Amino acid sequence: MALDQAGQYPIPEHVYIHVPFCSRRCSYCDFSIAVRRVVPVARYIDAIQAELVTRGLAAARGPIRSLYLGGGTPSKVGLGIGDITKLISTTSGIEVDALGEVTVEANPEDISEDVVRAWRTAGVNRVSLGVQSFDGEVLEWMHRTHSAEQASTAVEILVGEGIGRISVDLIFALPESIKRDWSRDLEMAAELGVGHVSLYGLTVESHTPLGRWTARGSVLSTPEERYETEFLEADRRLREAGFVHYEVSNYARPGEEAVHNSAYWRGVPYLGLGPSAHGFDGSRRRWNARDYARWLALVEGGVDPLEGGELIGPAEQSAERIYLGLRTTEGLEATDAEFDRAGRWLEAGWAERKGSRLVLTATGWMRLDALAADLLNLS
Ligand code: SF4
Repeated sequence: MALDQAGQYPIPEHVYIHVPFCSRRCSYCDFSIAVRRVVPVARYIDAIQAELVTRGLAAARGPIRSLYLGGGTPSKVGLGIGDITKLISTTSGIEVDALGEVTVEANPEDISEDVVRAWRTAGVNRVSLGVQSFDGEVLEWMHRTHSAEQASTAVEILVGEGIGRISVDLIFALPESIKRDWSRDLEMAAELGVGHVSLYGLTVESHTPLGRWTARGSVLSTPEERYETEFLEADRRLREAGFVHYEVSNYARPGEEAVHNSAYWRGVPYLGLGPSAHGFDGSRRRWNARDYARWLALVEGGVDPLEGGELIGPAEQSAERIYLGLRTTEGLEATDAEFDRAGRWLEAGWAERKGSRLVLTATGWMRLDALAADLLNLS
């Protein structure tokens, strides 16, 4: 990243801040989190400021198009209006109303009129709710800390307080023994009237509670076919309800697409702050120390919390062009050789040709990695 005229590094237009605190670990969760009953809010915000200093990042001198407070559970940490405003201005250096999309990830049980009012005043205009399911027993199995009713109530409160841009997360392909009614969950999500839905297929990581249950045989892994059948059902139902599938995991009503996430898929620079946060400056990716205590010790000691990085050279750029292109409904601007190579996918109905673009179909999304690898073998 080049220095600007003032001799400082500008902050990219898209900023992610990882807020790692949760009250307990969900059974499937592999994220970088710190379980805390009482969250050290002031220390954490000071540490974010310290990271900006250690990395030589000055306040931005242009508008920030998106700011995303992800986690962890940002809504859990008792971030009030002052805290959020401080976080935002720390990072952007500009007035909050000059920001574009400002998203907070939230768990339904943290939503109240007072909290939402405070967020709005601080500049938050989008909330991503970790709903996952509307079935109380399923939520309990997941170790989620909200009830089925709290999801609907949270949406009512958000809309009532003027936050119209709401996304809900749902997990699919749960083990058979859980007896989750996926159709009912999809119906309820569609009925909420929200503009955005993100779908995540369950993955089993060995060091999570679910990984341990699976290893000792008390939970059987989900068969591969269930991923496809449940995803295709979701695709059908969400389209019928007026959603557009605009990226592998994401559905939006027209105009409700996430500005922040779209930046990742377009391959534009973004800044990541906080433990485990990733960033990209246009030529190099970097990621921070994953462990909260380690990240904290580094930034408080005046050290860049960098854990790793990679230069995006010609080989990586060509892989990203294919992979990122195929992720979205805009598709990949493909060469003749790539269209030839994709002949088998087109015949199988996994992809379509739209002018000069190769676009995956719903069944193709499930095979994204294999299809991208197939095209990469050309280069
Ligand atoms: S709330 Fe989210 S980040 Fe926290 S433990 Fe559960 S899945 Fe992980």
